[in-house]
Amino acid sequence: MNVLLVFAHPEPRSLAGALREVAVRELEALGHAVRVSDLYAAGWKAQVDRGDFPLLAAEARLAPSEASAQAFAADALTDDVRAEQEKLRWADVLILQFPLWWFTMPAILKGWVDRVYAYGFAYGVGEHSDMRWGDRYGEGVFAGKRAMLLVTAGGWEAHYGARGINGPIEDLLFPINHGILHYPGYDVLPPFVAYRVHRLDDTGFAALAEALRERMRTLATAPPIAYRRQNGGDYLIPSMQLRAGLETPGTRGFGLHVDHAASPSGRDDRRRQGG
Ligand code: FAD
Repeated sequence: MNVLLVFAHPEPRSLAGALREVAVRELEALGHAVRVSDLYAAGWKAQVDRGDFPLLAAEARLAPSEASAQAFAADALTDDVRAEQEKLRWADVLILQFPLWWFTMPAILKGWVDRVYAYGFAYGVGEHSDMRWGDRYGEGVFAGKRAMLLVTAGGWEAHYGARGINGPIEDLLFPINHGILHYPGYDVLPPFVAYRVHRLDDTGFAALAEALRERMRTLATAPPIAYRRQNGGDYLIPSMQLRAGLETPGTRGFGLHVDHAASPSGRDDRRRQGG
């Protein structure tokens, strides 16, 4: 398989950097082709602005979605964005690796999504009719490919549990897993989350590295989170409401969009650090 790892940490000698090397080495040993987009090392420009749309006239009002659609259709996006899109087309598997910063991804990675996911590429695709609402949530440019998050967190695992004060990690990562990865078609694997990493000693690192190697070994076979497909009949069109009666009793919020009956492993792979 072809694997793209997008890395969003400013320090290669960090724990994140060490885990990246573990993942890449294991994937290569398994015979996969691996490419890494190291966003800080590349000086990735995080903000969407006029510079992204060379075709936009100087006096024109900037409407980001329209400008994105126009530039994508004309093959006139900037070289850095086009290069990332080419890597995404190439990759069978996408891994987004980042430290949890303020309960989500660092801004540089969000900016990678904002700029690379152009209109006509990752959104705004497919027909809209009584039967379909575009190609999204299980359909789209990345349908048939897999994706997963590789996350380090300072907080304790329990603090991210069902009753934990930070909120469940499944909920915190839902906008990324469902909104950024499932939306353009990826099958999303349960995230690999390392908790309480500031207490990590050599023994803890060795266990963490081995768990990560195991996840790399099962990239092609691990069951994805059973997010429902938008056009698969579970949702009313055009209201996009989940049909009544499909939910597991008592489920609400983000959990509605996981078909728990079909999900052997909708949970994250949790790694408790430091006891
Ligand atoms: P590092 O700091 O590089 O390393 C962590 C530990 O791993 C160190 O003690 C290091 O000695 C050890 N280690 C063991 N083996 C190795 C090895 N081989 N190589 C390198 N290090 C090793 N946490 C949350 O839970 N929720 C948040 O919302 C949150 N928000 C944050 C916001 C900001 C702006 C910042 C800066 C941090 C935040 N954190 C939060 C904490 C953050 O998630 C962690 O600091 C981060 O995940 C740690 O990863 P790292 O790669 O930077 O670790």
